[in-house]
Formats: sequence, structure tokens, C-alpha cells
Amino acid sequence: MPLIKSWVDSANRPKTEFPLNNLPYGVFSVGDNDWRCGVAIGDRIVDVTALEEVGLLRPDPGPHVFDVPFWNDFMELGPQVWASFRTQLQALLAEDNANREAVEPHLVEMADAELHMPFAVAEYTDFYSGCHHATNVGAMFRGADNALPPNWLHIPIGYNGRASSVYVSGTDIRRPWGQLKSPDHALPAFLPCRRFDIELEMGAIVGQPSDGPVSVQQADDMIFGYVLLNDWSARDIQAWEYQPLGPFQAKATATSISPWIVTKAALEPFRTSTPEREKDLLPHLAEPGPMLYNIPLSVSMQPENAEKPTVIARTNYSQMYYSAAQQLAHHTTAGSPMNTGDLLGSGTISGPTKPERGSLLELCWGGKEPMTLDTGETRTFIEDGDTLTLCGAAQGDGYRIGFGDCTGRVVAALDKSVLPYPD
Ligand code: CA
Repeated sequence: MPLIKSWVDSANRPKTEFPLNNLPYGVFSVGDNDWRCGVAIGDRIVDVTALEEVGLLRPDPGPHVFDVPFWNDFMELGPQVWASFRTQLQALLAEDNANREAVEPHLVEMADAELHMPFAVAEYTDFYSGCHHATNVGAMFRGADNALPPNWLHIPIGYNGRASSVYVSGTDIRRPWGQLKSPDHALPAFLPCRRFDIELEMGAIVGQPSDGPVSVQQADDMIFGYVLLNDWSARDIQAWEYQPLGPFQAKATATSISPWIVTKAALEPFRTSTPEREKDLLPHLAEPGPMLYNIPLSVSMQPENAEKPTVIARTNYSQMYYSAAQQLAHHTTAGSPMNTGDLLGSGTISGPTKPERGSLLELCWGGKEPMTLDTGETRTFIEDGDTLTLCGAAQGDGYRIGFGDCTGRVVAALDKSVLPYPD
């Protein structure tokens, strides 16, 4: 499918992440005004809360859904409404639309807006479904012979994370304190994390609830859209705590997501299959069709005083071993209901070669292979003041489908004097 032209000129430029083919969903405010639901188009945001108020857009004949600053109420309306709303919106913004004069006053400059969490996260689960990542980390922690646990090729491994610490891109991330035990310590110590890291992931947003097990196809139908996701990770806390029940405080500090939810409809032309199975999956996890997406991704790092960021990794979402639909189907097998607004992290996305690794842990091999940034500085893990940014955009025929950057600056750990602990 080629670029669909809009009367918003900036949406027709080949470099924009937000052409009319995309129409991602977010929440914004301008100055001290209320937070509102919006859709990105070129370098503008369409105020859909206003369009619903004035009657130019009605996703549903029932009560208004955009009178709240999150997309959950809209998600609850289901796939048919998602599709008809997208059609209405695309028509209103298309070249030569008769309503242009009525819509134009409800556009704001993206540069003037502050972006907020696009949806209320119900619950958050993070998976571990990148084969190259799991192999690299397993080799580091347990040796090359035991890199992949025996269950890994049969189920998408995951853990229940914290919805309460999911933040929108741009939020500063405070270095955590924690109990850690590095090789040079005989006893554990309570210290600020020394091995703070990122994980390059995609997040899938569950748009429709389930009550009981669902198939992989049903799971795919339940997914509303995708965001870029950074699973901030404290490696030294993780190394000490992870056995036998998996990560806990190492992953509790923060998870950052991109400001725009890209819908499944916008990503449809980029569907691709998961890699060839190394072992046949049981039938309940087999995919009926392609459920991953071809989305080139990158990570950059910018120290506090550097003028420009350095790109430190490039990979692709298509490297995942399990799709979000498979993860969601697996998540329902024991009967737990899933809810609108649930967020599923893909797991770190790494490719087969070193420049394709989606975490500093892998890029610098557990601190043993420092990397050099464009400024000449070296890093093994994140230092205070560093800004880490994830980018991603699917490349269409003359257009791109992007998410907006997923960025966060790491700030110093709390001073010991303010912690509520005895010396
Ligand atoms: Ca993760």
C-alpha cells in the first residue's frame, strides 16, 4: 500500500513517523489546559476529544469515550468500532475532504504539546521471548551449555511486573537502591545499583478482555496496538535475587513506553512470521498465520554533556521467537482473565550479531567489553545523566509508521540520608 495523502502537508513527507497510514493514539495537553485524547498526523495532533464534542467524530452512538484522558474506554468498544473509527478519521484527514475547515481548528502543533500516558495500565507482564537475548544472558549467567532453559523452546517465559511504575517517554528514571552481591563482596550490601541497564522491547496492549483460555488467533484479535517499551533493569540486584522465582526488585523501578499507541491496523502491511521453530510447539501455541511485525528498531545513548546521541544498537522486532499473540494465549491457559489495558512486554529484542543486541548487558558482555561512544567516553552500564532512547519505525512504500521516541534520562539515586533505614 502506498502513502495515503492528507491535507496536513507535514503528514505527506517521507520522513514523518505519522502519515495518514499511521494515525497512532495518545494523550496530550497544551500549557495548563486539560489532558485530551489525540491522534498524531505529521507534526500536528488532532484533538479527538474536541471532534467528539462537536460531533465530527462519533466512535459509538453510546456515551462519549474521549471525555477521559486515556484510550481504555475506546478500547472496550471492540474491533468493529476500532475499524470504523479509523475509517472515519482517515476520511476526515484525507486530501480533499469537505470537512477540512471544520477539523482544522482542532489541530495543535505537536511541538507545543506535552504527551502523557496514552492508556491506564491495568496489569503488566513482561516476557523473555527473544532467542538471541535469552541465549546471550543464559551463557553469561549459567554457561554456554545451559544457556536456554529446557522449557524455553516450548513456552513464552514471563513474570508479572508492576503496572504502577509504567511511565510515558520523557519521564526521568531514578537509579534504584537495592540489595546486591557482586563477585567482590562476600556478603550482600544495600547500595545504589551499579549495573543499571535498558531492555529494548515492544509492548502489546490488550484491548479486549478474556475469561478463560483463548486461542492464538483469538489473542491476536484482542490486541489493540503496540508501543516501544524500555524495561529498565538493575543487573546487580537481578543477579542476586533471580533464583528461584525470577526477577523482582530488579525490574520494579520503571518501565518506559513510547507516547503513541500504533494500532494493529496500521501495522498490518508489516506482518511477518516468527522464525522457524527449533522444536514443534504444542497445538495450543501454534500460530495460524504471521503475527510478528517487521519493525526496524534502534537504541541510542547520550551522556549529560554530549551534543548528540550515539546509536549503540540496531535490530528488528521480527527477531522475536514468540509473537505477542502467542504470549497472550499462553497467559490465559491457566484461566486467569485478561483485561482491557493489560500491557505485555515482548522481552529484549536482540539479533544474532553484536551490534544487534538490545541491552548493555549483552552489548558490553556483563561489563567485560566496554563500548566507546561518539564523544570518546566509554560505558559498560548507564551513568547518571545518561539519556537512553529507543526508536522504531516500519518502512512502507514512501512512508514510515513510527511510535515517537521512547526516552528516559537516568538521575542519581536518592541520598542515603533520606532513606528510612537505620545506619
Ligand atoms: Ca524484560
